[in-house]
Amino acid sequence: MLQVSGLSRSFGGVYAVDGVDLTVERGSALGIIGPNGAGKSTLFNLVSGQLPAERGEIRLDGRRIDRLSPHHRARLGIAIVFQGARTFHGMSVLENAMVGAHATTGAGFAAAALRLPRHRREERLIAERAREAVRRVGLEAWADRPAELLPLGQQRALQVARALCGEPTLLLLDEPASGLRAAERDRLADLIEQLRADGLTIMLVEHDVALVGRLADRVTVLDLGRVIAEGTPDEIRTDPRVVTAYLGT
Ligand code: ADP
Ligand code: MG
Repeated sequence: MLQVSGLSRSFGGVYAVDGVDLTVERGSALGIIGPNGAGKSTLFNLVSGQLPAERGEIRLDGRRIDRLSPHHRARLGIAIVFQGARTFHGMSVLENAMVGAHATTGAGFAAAALRLPRHRREERLIAERAREAVRRVGLEAWADRPAELLPLGQQRALQVARALCGEPTLLLLDEPASGLRAAERDRLADLIEQLRADGLTIMLVEHDVALVGRLADRVTVLDLGRVIAEGTPDEIRTDPRVVTAYLGT
C-alpha cells in the first residue's frame, strides 16, 4: 500500500531521515521504533506531507504522493495523530473530532464559520462523520462534554477519532501511548486492534516494545535516520544491532 524509497530530509545539514526504504502492506500494522532523535516523527511528517522530502519517493498504491500537499494526501486516505497532539480546550469532544473532518472536506474552517448555505450542509456531514468517529473510539457518552475533562487515555482516543473523521485508509500514530498508565495503554491497544480488524492499515511509532510486539506484524528500527533492522517483532527483539542501538543492554 505504501512504498517509501530513498527518503531523505535534513535540518541544518544533518540528516534526520537518511535514505529510508520501507513498505507497508495493506491491512497490516508496521511498528517503528528507535531512540529519541532517530527520525521517527520526521518520517511520519514526510509521509503525511507536513514536511517536503529532499530526496526519495513515497508511493500510495503505486501513485507518487511525495509532492502532494498534506490536504491532498489526507483526501487520498492518510491520517496522522501527531506526537504530543493536544485536544482543544473550550470545545466539546464532538467539536474536537470535527476539526479532523475539516482536514479532508472542501470547507475551510473560516468558510464554515460564516455558515453559508453550502457550508451548513457540509457542516452537517462533518458533524455526522465526527459523531461516528467518536462512537468508534468509544467516547459517545462524552460527545457533548468539554474535551479537557477527559482522562489522558481518552484524550488520546479523541485524537484518534479526529484522525478517523477524514475516513483514512492509512493511519499514522506517533507515540499514542506515551505517558499512559498500563490500563489506559491496554484500552488504547484494544482500540488500535479494533481499527485494524475494521481494515485500516497502521503505522505506529511507539517506545513500549511490548506494545509494538502486540500490535505490529512487522517492525522497522531507525537509528540516526537510517533503517538498521526490519523484521517481525520476535526477530527484532533478538537482533544484536537493535539490542545495542535501542534496547541498551
Ligand atoms: P524521533 O521522533 O525519532 O525522536 P525526530 O524525527 O523528531 O526524531 O528528530 C530527528 C532529528 O531531526 C533530531 O535530531 C531532531 O532534532 C531533528 N529535527 C526534527 N525536526 C526538526 C525541525 N523542525 N527543525 C530542526 N531539526 C529538527
Ligand atoms: Mg518523535
